Amino acid sequence: MKTELVIDLEAEKQEILKRYRALLRASKSTLQKGDKKEIRKAFDMALESHKDMRRKSGEPYIYHPIAVAQIAAEEIGLGTTSIVCALLHDVVEDTDITLEDIEREFGKKTAKIIDGLTKISGVFDTNSSLQAENFRKMLLTLADDVRVILIKLADRLHNMRTMDFMPRHKQLKIASETIYLYAPLAHRLGLYAIKSELEDLSMKYLEPETYKFIAKKLNEKKAERNMFIKKFVEPIDEIVHEQGLVADVYGRPKSIHSIWNKMKKKNIPFEEVYDLFAIRIILDSAYENEKADCWKAYSIVTDLYRPNPDRLRDWVSSPKGNGYESLHTTVMGPRGQWVEVQIRTQRMNEIAEKGFAAHWKYKESSNDNGLDQWIQKVREMLNNPEANALDFLDDFKMNLFSDEIFIFTPKGALIQLPLGATALDFAFEIHTDVGATCIGAKVNHKLVPISYKLQNGDQVEIITSSKQTPKEDWLNVVVTAKAKSKIKSSLKEEKRKIAEAGKEILERKLKSLKITYNTDNIQKISYFFKLPSTQELFVNVALGKIELKDIKEYLSSEKEVENRSPERPENLTVDMVKTKMKGSENDILLIGEDLQKIDYTLAACCNPIPGDDVFGFVTVSEGIKIHRTNCPNAAQLMSNYGYRIVKAKWNKQQELTFLTGLRIVGIDDVGLINNITKVISNDFKVNMRSITVDTNEGIFDGSIMIFVNDTEHLENLIKNLLQVKGVTGVTRFDA
Ligand code: MN
Repeated sequence: MKTELVIDLEAEKQEILKRYRALLRASKSTLQKGDKKEIRKAFDMALESHKDMRRKSGEPYIYHPIAVAQIAAEEIGLGTTSIVCALLHDVVEDTDITLEDIEREFGKKTAKIIDGLTKISGVFDTNSSLQAENFRKMLLTLADDVRVILIKLADRLHNMRTMDFMPRHKQLKIASETIYLYAPLAHRLGLYAIKSELEDLSMKYLEPETYKFIAKKLNEKKAERNMFIKKFVEPIDEIVHEQGLVADVYGRPKSIHSIWNKMKKKNIPFEEVYDLFAIRIILDSAYENEKADCWKAYSIVTDLYRPNPDRLRDWVSSPKGNGYESLHTTVMGPRGQWVEVQIRTQRMNEIAEKGFAAHWKYKESSNDNGLDQWIQKVREMLNNPEANALDFLDDFKMNLFSDEIFIFTPKGALIQLPLGATALDFAFEIHTDVGATCIGAKVNHKLVPISYKLQNGDQVEIITSSKQTPKEDWLNVVVTAKAKSKIKSSLKEEKRKIAEAGKEILERKLKSLKITYNTDNIQKISYFFKLPSTQELFVNVALGKIELKDIKEYLSSEKEVENRSPERPENLTVDMVKTKMKGSENDILLIGEDLQKIDYTLAACCNPIPGDDVFGFVTVSEGIKIHRTNCPNAAQLMSNYGYRIVKAKWNKQQELTFLTGLRIVGIDDVGLINNITKVISNDFKVNMRSITVDTNEGIFDGSIMIFVNDTEHLENLIKNLLQVKGVTGVTRFDA
């Protein structure tokens, strides 16, 4: 027994050294004199302090920091300071080593980054009820030193890659956070390769069935696809070299997550997704020839294949805010299939893969730095103390993913805005006061309303009026986080003033009715009028929506209530739920079990049915809501309110039915509806709640709400519906 252990430890020691040497090789390109010694010192400290710790998989803990450091060096292109920080990223939190120790050994900068990493590691603490607020803290560290976030992303990527040994509920939570915040952040920082991998890994855990399905389909057609790519690429390759360009031309598969997104967005089956891959032309060009060479390659491609005029994207002349530069076009392939072609140089490609860290290396040759501007914007948003943390996060997240358009001021200055931005967004971008008093705009010298959606290249002049103030419906007009938060804080201020006036009016009214003005009474009145807060009550009074006679009505009902026994709606707290669930196996909520007497309902946003992978969410006033783990709201709920999530599963024996929706498309034919309803009602004995049908030029598009027992039942029904003559597609939809 004893000897065996010694042998294992010896083998592990060898393996640790092997991995350490691989890390050194990966960081070679950035190493300068003395760097190797620093990295060795950090490695020794990490090795010593983690020496008795193991990962869930049973492996030595040190494998993790080494892997994180390797990702930082190899996949993000970070230098020695970051490698040192990555090696030490868990020591302050998990071992006896203090920040002072780090500062003494490695200096102030390293200590500061590790401090940032330690602080944000608490961000996703399950017991924290203020996760959104913590996100904000995390973003503050980003504004401090971007390396903190980059190392955190490397950490997250390695954890996602090695999550198999985690219990299912932890996998779900970690995957949700990843899809909710980390993948968008990676995107915004230009780390496309890491972003795609994070998305695919999240999907693998959040929607394992779909993930496996698409992966299998992709694999089946691999040989055929490679053949197609080879044929497509050959003539391009030939002419490109004939014309004296040095280039690498190849096909690259798109990620499973992006294919799935396309299927959902367009509501099409896998077979109809045409761009399963993109063609890349990576040019080896001198810096001064880059632009000309890219267009030369573009001309070669479009001579061979006909381009779709609507699909030309030129991020070579105007790079994206995250530094991305590339020329994209979509052309008609030989078999009448659209193919996306991406043209860029090696320098641009490195930025596209590794993000802005690679950008830094070339900084002297690049004239503007979109990232600096962006971080400046983040800082501005974070400094707005009025903004509610959750709102802020949602707006912020939206902005992480959007594409940009470029707008000119009347004097020709260039302003970057997210795609879909309006004249009002532009006004707020110029200045808060300009936004707040905006009444319209002149776009390319033509008068337009504030809601006008700007197009790339528009020249915009804002028209203001001193009488204008921000309105509630402006929130539907703008898309930028900045404009939203400014409008919200202005409305809030406005409301506060109105409420103050309302409060005085109410005090007087209550006095005349001889009711004491105190918190208890005010709350009772708010409750009576079904208002969410006393502020809303004051506002309603100020606006004359609640008058003296209404309050009298309240008084008479209050007397009635006093005569009955008090019956208050029960507000379930998480602890109460947990106490109620104690005794059941592992605190899992069994749906369909009435013994537990826990009040739950099925969420309307995703309509779960037995067989679906689900979780429970404790709401403030409506008990527990059951959601599907692939519900569109799941990631938001799990990552922001982890402490309110309860595990749930279906209780097998039950004869209940559940509402779900089916979308059926096909070729309209006499009797088609009849045949469909026959399968549903006669063959399957399923109750239909509603059916809506659109027919347009011979295409049938129907939505049917039905009651089914479970997923198996539903799948069988779908199979049978697909057999109906004329039906080409049947998909489940949520709401
Ligand atoms: Mn870690």
